[in-house]
Amino acid sequence: MIEIASLNNFQKFLVCPKCKNKLEFGKNFIICTSCNSKFPQLADDWLNLMPDQLLENEATKWEERLLEMEDWYKHLMTNSTSAINCFAADYTPFVPFLAGLSGNILDVGGGIGVPRNYLNSNNNYIVIDPSIEWLRIDWSSLLDRFPYLESKPNFVRGIGECLPFPSESFDAVLSFWSLNHASDPKLVMSEVARVLRPGGRVLLVLEEMIPQWFDIGNPKFLAKSVFNSFFNTISSRKPLPRLRLLLKLLKREDWPLQTDHVRILESEIKEWTGQNFEIIQRVWINQYLTFELNKI
Ligand SMILES: [Zn+2]
Repeated sequence: MIEIASLNNFQKFLVCPKCKNKLEFGKNFIICTSCNSKFPQLADDWLNLMPDQLLENEATKWEERLLEMEDWYKHLMTNSTSAINCFAADYTPFVPFLAGLSGNILDVGGGIGVPRNYLNSNNNYIVIDPSIEWLRIDWSSLLDRFPYLESKPNFVRGIGECLPFPSESFDAVLSFWSLNHASDPKLVMSEVARVLRPGGRVLLVLEEMIPQWFDIGNPKFLAKSVFNSFFNTISSRKPLPRLRLLLKLLKREDWPLQTDHVRILESEIKEWTGQNFEIIQRVWINQYLTFELNKI
């Protein structure tokens, strides 16, 4: 397994996001020695391996959705107390999983790399994300609670659909609330399977998933958190959340979806992961359906 300690070392680890062949690192460009793709380098503390022509899937309005998400985070950061509470509530349930990881860890759509605060020191952590907004936001008001935000993570600008890493090079892949932002989530999952070593672990945290009938009946299922995230304007004479969810399930096509998300069905997750992964855990965490997978 390759170590990814420094940016220098980290460069040797990368391959062309399109054809997966060897890259040459120039001063202003990274160039693929095989397909001649050319990636302009715009900064010296992160690498740009964003493929240009691969996201023209207009149907998913990928770029508009990305901008909407960036705006949401910029707005969140205008109030540091809300931002701290939001990050703490979102990440704390995953601390035991993160603390158990080691080796090479890829965070797909990982932004500024909040999970670094919960990983043990025995790891090489890399973020791949199409947005560089994360590197521009001033995170200093969050440092008391999330000290690792003081430095940038190993950061590659790129997309999950075209991972610029060799096959079987990671011990773990994280996807926190990112798969619903992809252009082609199925392709992201096949790339995740490719870059993981056998036995490698995946954490998939998904948004706006439609519950199953058995979820609604399960007393441990926090219907209220799913309900509250979907229905912001609640009349004073509303029926119980569990009942409202049941009624909503009868008309599945009406299940709410934020405009910056693509709908992902649980049956699709099963189909995309079936060949390559064993499902270790399926659990609702807050309003998010979460899968822990192991690569076969
Ligand atoms: Zn290439």
